[in-house]
Amino acid sequence: MPEAASRAEVNVLDNFIGGRWVPAHATEVFDVHNPAVGDVIGRTPLSSAVDVDAAVRAATVAFPAWRDTPVNTRAQVLYKFKALLERHFEDMARIVTTEHGKTLDEARGSVRRAIECVEVACGAPSLMQGTGLEDISAGIDCHVVRQPLGVVAAIAPFNFPAMVPMWFLPFAIVTGNTFVLKPSEQVPLTQRKMVEFLQQCDLPPGVVNLVNGGRDVVEAICDHPGIRAVSFVGSTAVAKQVYQRATHAGKRVQALGGAKNFIVVMPDADLERSVGLIAESFYGCAGERCLAGSILVPVGEVHHEARDRMVRAAKALSVGDGAQPGVTMGPVISAKHRDRVIRYIEQGVSEGARLLVDGRKTKVPDRPNGYFVGPSVFDEVSPSMAIGHEEIFGPVASICPVKTIEEAIALMQAHPNANATSIFTSSGKAAREFAKHATASMVGVNIGVAAPMAYFPFGGARDSFFGDLKAHGRDGIEFYTDKKVTISRWF
Ligand code: NAD
Repeated sequence: MPEAASRAEVNVLDNFIGGRWVPAHATEVFDVHNPAVGDVIGRTPLSSAVDVDAAVRAATVAFPAWRDTPVNTRAQVLYKFKALLERHFEDMARIVTTEHGKTLDEARGSVRRAIECVEVACGAPSLMQGTGLEDISAGIDCHVVRQPLGVVAAIAPFNFPAMVPMWFLPFAIVTGNTFVLKPSEQVPLTQRKMVEFLQQCDLPPGVVNLVNGGRDVVEAICDHPGIRAVSFVGSTAVAKQVYQRATHAGKRVQALGGAKNFIVVMPDADLERSVGLIAESFYGCAGERCLAGSILVPVGEVHHEARDRMVRAAKALSVGDGAQPGVTMGPVISAKHRDRVIRYIEQGVSEGARLLVDGRKTKVPDRPNGYFVGPSVFDEVSPSMAIGHEEIFGPVASICPVKTIEEAIALMQAHPNANATSIFTSSGKAAREFAKHATASMVGVNIGVAAPMAYFPFGGARDSFFGDLKAHGRDGIEFYTDKKVTISRWF
């Protein structure tokens, strides 16, 4: 598509229902932009409950044959899907960069993570196995099998268009469920491409359906009596609503919410080797990661050195169009989000934090219409300030110095979000104490972004996660299956 395409030339996307691309019943559309350029590159229909119902009907029709399909045959679909994703790896990364803005290297990393989820789900013939025991009483045996739930749905956020849907889709379908996916209206193009690939994988119609849209689609998914389980990833406020609404309607729900992640630096940390990892945690993907560092907590005498190194690392970043070589930080997702990040920076200044690097001034001359905000560093931040307790979801580092590790842990414990956290130290004892008392569920020791691989559970605690079973790994298999116990005696 030419960069200068006008809005009218850009087609409204279709939904994928029952194996066919069909127009949505939508009266409104949402413009998708290339955030580095500002151009409209797609138009997302804001589908209605009618579209959700059509998708659920198609998935319901497809379910009996799909659940009866041998698990190994279901896994073969995923092997083919993986092969296509590998073959088109570079194209996928480019689509992610074009609609989301992250750098090509970051996009490649996210597509790799997506593929890893598909690979892990291919292990379903082993992972889905149940248990059994003979002679639980004389001549009586007991065995447990895992069965699919039926029609399940997933709702995705904007920040990882390739990876987050793959936390759910491969696990859901390989276990025999049929699936309805709702991408973020801000980034629908990567997921459309993925579904086009799935179409080439001998997937029966109706097993995977895609409904584009926003709030109306989410609410229809929560309420639809034909949907048995809902996976959600997004902000805490919406995660909470989805959890309440969908559980009220009797569904199994896993709702992953927002984050405010604390990165603690001890005086004995190897700063030379750590600062790159720490800066990457705050500024990677322009801070639009649920695992991104948000509050830097230097303990004791390391404060000034950690601060000065962060300032240097922030200033060394090259902000620009993520599709161009040499760029190390792309734009944020939209003009609206850029303005929101800038408002937080303004608020930080007015609440008395010391602004050492000011991202508001960043300009990218060859991309005058992109949604850029440069990296910022604040020192002397307190938890009572907006930048000290609200999720900014942008490239802003807030330094909250403390005197002891106990104070650092207490800061984290006082925050309602508990997604990820890291400590940088050369002390095993400090690391152990920290990991033990961390409220967050994903903990890094000398790791900037504590992202569990696809064979481990992914998800936070408190206001960062609502539900029981987390995303992917064994939790993914458990979430999408029910355990059936059969006790038998043969006369
Ligand atoms: P969001 O909550 O605005 O949107 C998420 C999804 O919900 C989208 O599909 C959107 O269309 C829909 N939605 C938005 N508002 C809604 C409403 N009022 N009612 C019903 N549905 C609604 O989140 P986002 O801005 O797309 O993504 C960023 C957020 O996601 C951040 O808070 C980030 O921390 C979080 N996130 C969390 C994780 C995690 O693993 N915990 C992972 C990625 C992103």
